Amino acid sequence: MEAPGATDNGFLEVTRRCRRRAGAGLRTDLPHTEVVLTRHGASGTLRSPLEKDSMADANEFDVVVVGGGPAGATIGALLGMNGYRALVVEKDVHPRDHVGESITPSTNPIFARIGFLEKMEDAGFVHKPGACWTAPRSPVGKFVSLRLGEFPPPGATQFYTYNVERDHFDALLLRHALEKGAKVLQGAKAGPVLFEGDRAVGVRVEVTEGWEHDVPARFVVDATGRRALIPTQLRMKKKDPVFNQFCIYSWFEGVEPNPPGYEGMLFLHFLDLERCWAWAIPLRNGITSVGVVTDKQDFQRSGRSHEEFFNSLISLNRTLKWTMRSARRVRPWWIEADYSYETDRMVGPGWLLIGDALRFVDPVFSTGVDVAMFSANYAFEAIDAVIRGGQDEATALADYQRRVGEGVQAWYDLIALFYKLRNLFTAYAVRKRFREQVVRILQGNLYVPESLQRAREMIALMEESFRKITSDPENLLAPGALIPDHERRVGVGA
Ligand SMILES: Cc1cc2nc3c(=O)[nH]c(=O)nc-3n(C[C@H](O)[C@H](O)[C@H](O)COP(=O)(O)OP(=O)(O)OC[C@H]3O[C@@H](n4cnc5c(N)ncnc54)[C@H](O)[C@@H]3O)c2cc1C
Repeated sequence: MEAPGATDNGFLEVTRRCRRRAGAGLRTDLPHTEVVLTRHGASGTLRSPLEKDSMADANEFDVVVVGGGPAGATIGALLGMNGYRALVVEKDVHPRDHVGESITPSTNPIFARIGFLEKMEDAGFVHKPGACWTAPRSPVGKFVSLRLGEFPPPGATQFYTYNVERDHFDALLLRHALEKGAKVLQGAKAGPVLFEGDRAVGVRVEVTEGWEHDVPARFVVDATGRRALIPTQLRMKKKDPVFNQFCIYSWFEGVEPNPPGYEGMLFLHFLDLERCWAWAIPLRNGITSVGVVTDKQDFQRSGRSHEEFFNSLISLNRTLKWTMRSARRVRPWWIEADYSYETDRMVGPGWLLIGDALRFVDPVFSTGVDVAMFSANYAFEAIDAVIRGGQDEATALADYQRRVGEGVQAWYDLIALFYKLRNLFTAYAVRKRFREQVVRILQGNLYVPESLQRAREMIALMEESFRKITSDPENLLAPGALIPDHERRVGVGA
């Protein structure tokens, strides 16, 4: 079938047309990226598990994935490897900057599953063997640390994960999806998702300004991150009632390196403000990513420039202030705000949400890429169970929503408790009896029954302790018990 305006030379001809019309608007920087859109939709030459199905349509993709971040690229790779005709549509052109540089070890088995672990090593990303944290008044050199290798995950082949420059990491992962057989279209914004009744049947793609194509597919996967295409379109996105965070971060040279023996470790520094903390993530080439997370109101009330505000917060932790004393910023400030939300549903007929699109919980435990990759993995399994396995769609998608939803909810509950009482978390982490539980939770993947149960037990214990501590006004673990009144909220809002 020939698309109006296109020739019978197939999609490569269309590619040239797109380029001619789009100018810089349509870019395909990833080597071998194939643009396969025609005016009537999309075509491709991949064999599809749908071919024997009565729903098969030579002009359809099995799955169109909107968004080429870690979630979209992971499911793209899985679909491609398993013979599905998948199209990943990404509005930006990789490499593009992104927040979220410290990842959990739970992602290693998924990297291995999609054949990407070797590429992580080849890229030379900094190895992250664990995490450390400091209290606001800890003397310099005093900190709590947890090593991931203390209690290796079952079947672990390495006792570290990675700190990644997200521009590079995301570009490698998206290229990997392409190499595994997914089609990747960059520089093209997708939306709206097309519905027939309540069933998603495809997506409209703006190939270049004023030129849109409808791409039909059996499934639409929303991997658009916090843009959350489907939840926004269906008005299902609900701002988190508790977390109203503001984050400012950048890259620095000249940050005091981690002490010997702690190279590559993520440092979290807690500041003398409610729900306020900073990260220091060692990256390659002597660069450290440093960011501060605080309540949005703190910034609004401060009336300060970004630089002044950042510096005022840094000074609220002794260790952080000391490690930053000779730091030079080498990139512009990057701001993120209002990022926590949830959605009513993660699935519907013909559609699934993965990664940040399904929910965003506060990043204090570096869980974002874990959620992105596991939800991509389980979404693939649900789609595969329906298409190849013939499972009832509603059941497969409901299982997906339950599994991922429960895991993410456990992250949320842990994080909420952690913010209520940071001292309590430290108290558990340093006690021999609970240390394994804490380390295993922080390793990630709360979506399998045993790790979910472990997290739930920990949540119950901490909730009980929290009740006891807050009912006792003399308890020194109570929030702010050790801080003289006049020192609260120093440096902010003044
Ligand atoms: C302050 C802060 C700190 C964080 N720190 C960490 C951390 O240390 N570790 C960690 O694991 N996570 C961290 N995160 C979370 C992490 O950034 C995300 O969880 C992760 O990037 C989610 O991946 P994703 O693929 O779901 O979404 P994204 O990485 O956001 O990718 C979504 C992609 O979709 C594309 N897109 C959006 N709309 C469209 C459209 N209409 N059409 C086509 N393409 C579209 C975007 O361009 C983007 O490339 C942090 C987040 C914040 C806010």
